[in-house]
Amino acid sequence: MTTITSNSTKTFRAVLIEKNGSEQSTKLIPVKQDSLPSGDVLVKVEHSTINYKDGLALTGKSPVVRSFPMIPGIDFCGTVVESSHKDWKPGDRAILNGWGTGETRWGGLSELAKTYGDWLVPLPHSLSSQQAMAIGTAGYTAMLSVMALERHQIKPSAGPILVTGASGGVGSIAVSLLSHRGYQVVASTGKLEAAGYLTSLGATSIIDRNDISAPGKSLQKEKWAGAIDTVGSTTLANICASLQYGAVATTCGMAQGLDFPSSVAPFILRGITLCGIDSVMAPLNIRQEAWKRLAAELDLRSLEAMTVTIPLDEVQEAGHRIVEGKVRGRIVVDVGI
Ligand code: NDP
Repeated sequence: MTTITSNSTKTFRAVLIEKNGSEQSTKLIPVKQDSLPSGDVLVKVEHSTINYKDGLALTGKSPVVRSFPMIPGIDFCGTVVESSHKDWKPGDRAILNGWGTGETRWGGLSELAKTYGDWLVPLPHSLSSQQAMAIGTAGYTAMLSVMALERHQIKPSAGPILVTGASGGVGSIAVSLLSHRGYQVVASTGKLEAAGYLTSLGATSIIDRNDISAPGKSLQKEKWAGAIDTVGSTTLANICASLQYGAVATTCGMAQGLDFPSSVAPFILRGITLCGIDSVMAPLNIRQEAWKRLAAELDLRSLEAMTVTIPLDEVQEAGHRIVEGKVRGRIVVDVGI
């Protein structure tokens, strides 16, 4: 194993996950700069975030981390300090989401990150680094989901759009984006005390997630013109069973479970469509479009209202809270405090 800590002056602070047998430990430590992975762009990270997947990595609840030791953090935003890539030069501001960052290669919960210029998206001028990470992978995934509904011609006039896991990161931003575009948004949540919060983001009504989480019939009353699902499992099966004729649901998450105990009935009798959403390997042009639209369309006051900012030494505790479903909205990590 490479030695990654030393007395060398060229170190940076990072959260490091190590594994010894089945035991996983996480520390905030100085790491040698020359142990950074290969790449053609070095970024001074300003902000990162805690997404659900980061929670899984930090707690070891799912095998998100594929090699150890690992600096977690599936996304980051910062300033380029060195580059041999033709599109990036020192001083450029950049966002990175996914591409295995924080899973197979060192990630954003760190003062420095080495990556590839082909993976970076320019930070839109209207966003600060803190705002970009308040959006983070969660918000970018919410936008990919909205874009999928639009690609399938689901218009605001079609009827109500259901958003599940609505008080979470993807859900909160999806509610805000859909509302801004004039959709009627029904927010499903397990935190009924978050009703006021969801209404302030633009939800027109709230339902209790327990109403749609237990196994149900494969064809139910037609309710939704569209849905953005973040929880999977029986909830997604029930959503498919209650989509209107020709309606579309997107699936990006598995907060309830990875299983999908559904039937072909709503697909072949009601012509519904289920769109998979992947943020990790999405092509650069789609990322650029999503970020451009986020910068133009997301209500920054709503974004601020849904965000808390923490320092690097609080990420472990935040990781536990997010996998326990206790987080409302988004957590930004300010790497400099
Ligand atoms: P959050 O933890 O912020 O939100 C998830 C929400 O799901 C919770 O806040 C809660 O909302 C709800 N929830 C939690 N546990 C359960 C449960 N047992 N049953 C039903 N609902 C539950 O996570 P994110 O918003 O960051 O991510 C949501 C999902 O999307 C995750 O599974 C994540 O891995 C996935 N994801 C996938 C991406 C992709 O590229 N495909 C990219 C980004 C995220 P409430 O209390 O309001 O019901």
